[in-house]
Amino acid sequence: RLEIRDLRRSFDGRAVVDGVSLKIMPGQVTCLLGPSGCGKSTTLRMIAGVEMQDSGEIYVDGRLICDTVTRVPPERREIGLMFQDFALFPHLSVEGNVAYGLRGSRAEKRARVEEMLGRVHMQRFIDMYPHQLSGGEQQRVALARALAPQPRIMLMDEPFSGLDNRLRDGIRDETLGILKEENTGVLLVTHEPDEAMRMADEIALMRDGRIVQQGAPYNVYTRPLDRASVAFFSDAN
Ligand code: ATP
Ligand code: MG
Repeated sequence: RLEIRDLRRSFDGRAVVDGVSLKIMPGQVTCLLGPSGCGKSTTLRMIAGVEMQDSGEIYVDGRLICDTVTRVPPERREIGLMFQDFALFPHLSVEGNVAYGLRGSRAEKRARVEEMLGRVHMQRFIDMYPHQLSGGEQQRVALARALAPQPRIMLMDEPFSGLDNRLRDGIRDETLGILKEENTGVLLVTHEPDEAMRMADEIALMRDGRIVQQGAPYNVYTRPLDRASVAFFSDAN
């Protein structure tokens, strides 16, 4: 499980993430929901370790991975990433992409790659290159790559928004289904209330760098805390 405590980050004197605390439990999907610019991606980037926080702590399964002194590098955090612009490596085959970041012998890696591609029904594409795949197929390979090192937590920043509508629901449900089976905790960023309502076990509503409300989707939706939350839910629809 993932726990973040009082995470903060300013750019040019402006607090973009202003004291965010969250817990993500294994096998659960928590949606970080809020309007454009409220600090969602910055929060995820700090958890991933590609952006440094000004203050606050991050723990994975009780182990401190980042504060102002300790700093575990991204690839050792046991955190997987799926970002919209986190593309496959074009010069690597499907096998090369999924094997990237795996440790072990060649045979061990190959076995793991085959297993992961099997899970996303992409085994027969193993020797192809990204440009030979459709957007949906690339997404599945990206999922296999993200899952292959068995992360404890998966961070997803609107990873489905580049897909066309027809594909999106299927791939999204499939992806979250696989993550649930693996008992991976998911932090999913979205600015669409409908998506959060559909996917989340828990919603964390974010505004101006803070979590203003957190709870089960139904409760957050039917009992918004203030006018700004009401406006956010109704504007988005
Ligand atoms: P969206 O839904 O549009 O993706 P978001 O909630 O993910 O929005 P962030 O990307 O976290 O928003 O950005 C929050 C604010 O921080 C924005 O106003 C953005 O301009 C600012 N910001 C982010 N990164 C930087 C940076 N490296 N330098 C300066 N300002 C930044
Ligand atoms: Mg963003």
